[in-house]
Parts: sequence; structure tokens; C-alpha cells
Amino acid sequence: MKALQYRTIGAPPEVVTVPDPEPGPGQVLLKVTAAGVCHSDIAVMSWPAEAFPYALPLTLGHEGVGTVAALGAGVTGLAEGDAVAVYGPWGCGTCAKCAEGKENYCLRADELGIRPPGLGRPGSMAEYLLVDDPRHLVPLDGLDPVAAVPLTDAGLTPYHAIKRSLAKLVPGSTAVVIGTGGLGHVAIQLLRALTPARVVALDVSEEKLGLARAVGAHEAVLSDARAADAVRALTGGLGAEVVLDFVGAAPTVATAGAVAAVEGDVTLVGIGGGALPVGFGVLPFEVSVTAPYWGSRGELIEVLDLARAGALSVHTETYALDDAPLAYERLHEGKVNGRAVILPHG
Ligand code: NAD
Ligand code: ZN
Ligand code: ZN
Repeated sequence: MKALQYRTIGAPPEVVTVPDPEPGPGQVLLKVTAAGVCHSDIAVMSWPAEAFPYALPLTLGHEGVGTVAALGAGVTGLAEGDAVAVYGPWGCGTCAKCAEGKENYCLRADELGIRPPGLGRPGSMAEYLLVDDPRHLVPLDGLDPVAAVPLTDAGLTPYHAIKRSLAKLVPGSTAVVIGTGGLGHVAIQLLRALTPARVVALDVSEEKLGLARAVGAHEAVLSDARAADAVRALTGGLGAEVVLDFVGAAPTVATAGAVAAVEGDVTLVGIGGGALPVGFGVLPFEVSVTAPYWGSRGELIEVLDLARAGALSVHTETYALDDAPLAYERLHEGKVNGRAVILPHG
């Protein structure tokens, strides 16, 4: 089958032919209908050889949806042709975190060498994807594959980040979304669907700010050195109860800290290498800062339910598998508005 692989440190990914995977006992083989292009893959492909944690070649793609093509021995509860979304942050399934559905925080994944598809294991940017266990599949139940595939990460990750702060997003509150790309433009819609908060979006280009407004941001502000003052002015000087940073670079985490209100939540989702110091007098009183990873199995089910209710409209541009390298190039250049989605079967 064809697959998009990262093969050489520092080189662009390539479409190659690899052996067709076959499901072993307990596994499920999916025919991939859609695979999402996440900025994290660009970070992965920028890591130097000495810090690279995965084996090469690596088939990319940690957002995937597909139809069941074959079942390994002993798999029940699924049938060939079923349309499903893949829960990506695989865990052991039995530790205390996994028992809560928080496989993203599995206590034994490292020790057991368990990796997500596309981030260590062969990913979804291929004609077929091997899934380790049927518990990592959620029925699409009528959702469109292209619209649904970004929800497995670009939806699930902001959903998890927002859920921790729901109690603070009361009427009259403000939520700031920094970076309104794949994750950010879904975050704005999640905030609008789940809370009465006023949403202020920050990004570096007018095109991105246009998308932010189109998907529900009340205010859209250019992300520059004056952005923090602009957000403070919009909140009567008080700052925002919740700040979600989908860039995570030094200048954006500084903005995130500078716009937080007393008792605010700052959540750093982007992996841009920035850090926000916490200490008495450094941030407003009792600001809480966290850097989460992906979301739980239960939360993916909730995000897909929200999409089925019509609350989310993910902006996508689609590419054939042969053109996947171009999708990464465009994402790297900041040219993708919303999420790029690869269609391995055209
Ligand atoms: P994306 O490229 O689609 O979106 C990033 C957006 O940030 C773009 O719109 C870009 O214009 C904007 N941006 C860049 N610099 C900015 C600045 N200085 N100020 C404001 N906006 C700026 O990327 P994505 O796929 O949505 O991923 C966003 C980030 O989240 C990436 O760092 C990615 O690696 C990370 N991520 C983290 C997790 C997690 O679990 N923590 C999960 C998925 C993605
Ligand atoms: Zn991702
Ligand atoms: Zn576990």
C-alpha cells in the first residue's frame, strides 16, 4: 500500500510503497478514509537526530478515520464496513489513568513502549491503518469523515483544555484563544457551544483572524507586542478568565500570562517551546498554568456527539495522498486556513 513516511531527519516526508498490514489477534485493520495534518508533525520533523524519540521510517498521521476492513482473531462488536474514528493517545488500558479513559496519561505507556499511531507507530497517512485494540475506535454514526477526522485531535485537545475551565466561563467572562489554526478555530466553536463567554481570538494574519470571526470569535486581535494591552482594554483592564495558547512560543506564552485575570486559567496547548514562569507577584493572584496533552476516550465521544448535534463546523482543505507533502509545506508556511485533510483513497 501507499504511505506517507518521514524517512530521513530534516528531509520532507515521502510517499512510498510499504507492505500491506494484516491484523493480528485483537487488532482491527481500517481502510483509511481521511487523515488530518497536525502542526505537531512539523515539530516532530524538526527534531534533531540525537533527540528523535521514534524509529524511522515513520508513517505519519495521528488523526484518522476509516472503515473496518478486517478483524483480527477474537475481535467482537465491530463488523466489516463500520465507519469509525481513531482515538490516538493509546495507553495500556488497565492502569489507573487508563481505567478512567485517560489513556493520554497512561502510567505505563513508556515502560511498555506503547506509542500513538503516527507518533511512533505507523500512522493514518496510508491506505490502511492497523489499530491495536477496538476500544480505540469510536463509531462515526453518520458524521462526514473529512469533517470528523480533525475532531480526533484538533477537536479533542481543545475540548479537554476547555473542559477544565468550564466553571470559570460564566456570563460576563472572557476567553482568549491564541492561534486560530487547526486547533484554535475548533476551540472558538467549542467555547461558543459550551459557554456564554466572550471569545477574543489572536493570530498573526488577517486571513486567520477572518476565519476566527467566521467561526464565532466576538473579537479578533492581531497578535503582536500590543496584543496584551488590546485584550486588557477589551476586558476593562481586568483580563481574561481563561487563556488558551495554541502556539506556545515565547512571545505567545508571555501574552497569555499578561492577559490573565486574577484566578484565571492559562492553558498552554501549543508546543512552541515557550515557558511561563509562576511565582508570587509574577502573575495575577492565583492564576493557574498548565500544559495538557490530547484528551480522554470519553471526551472524544463527547466531541463527536457535539459535532452530531451540529455545533461544530471544521474548515478543511483536502489533498490526495500523493500531495500530502504539499499539505505539510503549506501548513509550515502558515497557508492552511483550518485543517488540511489527506484522502488516501482519492
Ligand atoms: P496550525 O498551524 O494549524 O495553527 C497555529 C496557528 O497559530 C496558525 O493560525 C498561526 O497563524 C498561528 N500563530 C503562529 N504564530 C502566532 C503568534 N505569534 N501569535 C498568534 N498566532 C500565531 O497548528 P495546529 O495543528 O492547530 O497546532 C497548534 C499547536 O498545538 C502546535 O504547536 C501543535 O504542535 C500543538 N498541539 C498540541 C497538542 C497537545 O496535546 N498539547 C495537540 C495537538 C497540537
Ligand atoms: Zn496533533
Ligand atoms: Zn495505562
